[in-house]
Amino acid sequence: MTPSFNPPIRRLMGPGPSDVHPRVLGAMARPTIGHLDPEFSRMMEEVKDLLRYAFKTKNALTIPVSGPGSVGMETCFVNLVEAGDKVIVCQNGAFGGRMKENVERCGGVPIMVIDEWGKPVDIEKIEDVLKTNSDIKAVAFVHAETSTGVQSDAAAICALARKYGILSIVDAVTSLGGTPVLTDEWGADAVYSGSQKCLSCMPGISPVTISEKAASVVRSRNHKVQSWFMDLNLVMGYWGGEGARVYHHTAPINPLYAIHEALVMLKEEGLEQAWERHAKMHNALRVGIEAMGLSLIVEEAYRLPQLNTVSIPEGVDEAAVRSTLLSRYNLEIGAGLGGLAGKVWRVGLMGQSATSEHVILFLSAMEDVLG
Ligand SMILES: *Cc1c(COP(=O)(O)O)cnc(C)c1O
Repeated sequence: MTPSFNPPIRRLMGPGPSDVHPRVLGAMARPTIGHLDPEFSRMMEEVKDLLRYAFKTKNALTIPVSGPGSVGMETCFVNLVEAGDKVIVCQNGAFGGRMKENVERCGGVPIMVIDEWGKPVDIEKIEDVLKTNSDIKAVAFVHAETSTGVQSDAAAICALARKYGILSIVDAVTSLGGTPVLTDEWGADAVYSGSQKCLSCMPGISPVTISEKAASVVRSRNHKVQSWFMDLNLVMGYWGGEGARVYHHTAPINPLYAIHEALVMLKEEGLEQAWERHAKMHNALRVGIEAMGLSLIVEEAYRLPQLNTVSIPEGVDEAAVRSTLLSRYNLEIGAGLGGLAGKVWRVGLMGQSATSEHVILFLSAMEDVLG
């Protein structure tokens, strides 16, 4: 007989998932009810309101998409990009590359604005493209690059998009709940996130918010969205309005209880207070890291508090350090990706993993393992 699976208790300080609070795990274990049950409908309205709170938006089209952050990403691209559309894609790490893939698979034409891994998106380069091309539909960029620990200036990029009358598509998977995501103030058109980073819910849900301008673009497309599952025109039959809900796909009932609870907890703490906590914990981590003679590779001005890229000292076997942290301390941190593989560790302070206990555990465990 195969025994039940009982996972070890870990501390998650990598690039996501982050630690999930017992309240959220408890919510997930509540009885499953029907996805068209009036009580479930009532909860869905609360989830939409709580997401508007987290995204700082009044957008009517604000929903938790069924699927991980990648499905939120794809939802934005398949609905907004049609064959032949030109989209500026900013790439300064791993996730910009996925945006390029998305544009291409929609039949669109990506116009790349490339910056070095570890640097923010260069806004002047975007404007250079806009000055010389009059037929661009959108600009897509990653607000918080989890592969490098860099935050780009979303307000400035969205302002530029508005100035040139194009749409903005923002990856806020790692920023939402950790650093300010000001959807309405920025005038962002499509913003997607994920449940398992600073919202500290289990993976599998992707919050998405779409401006009225972008929603009208979706409604007036020339061709049907190539993905039936992600077509927002259909998904809205289930999630839209407070009236009758039309079956589209069976909503992931229990994971939605979980994101509801995670968002309730975010609101109890206060969004601004959560941002402050992430900043404070990052600062404590930085002081400790520097005291150990290690350093962060990203310049202070655009460092991401919730994802710290720590340089690996010479002669250290970085994979052995990670596996010892896991076996001896039940502590997970992340490896470097792409060009940063073997050069950095990625230490996450996301959501429930942004506490002084986590900072102290990481510093003392690291001191032991490196010593
Ligand atoms: C994690 C992440 C994603 C992908 O989210 P999944 O839930 O893994 O699909 C996309 N963009 C960024 C910036 C991320 O950090």
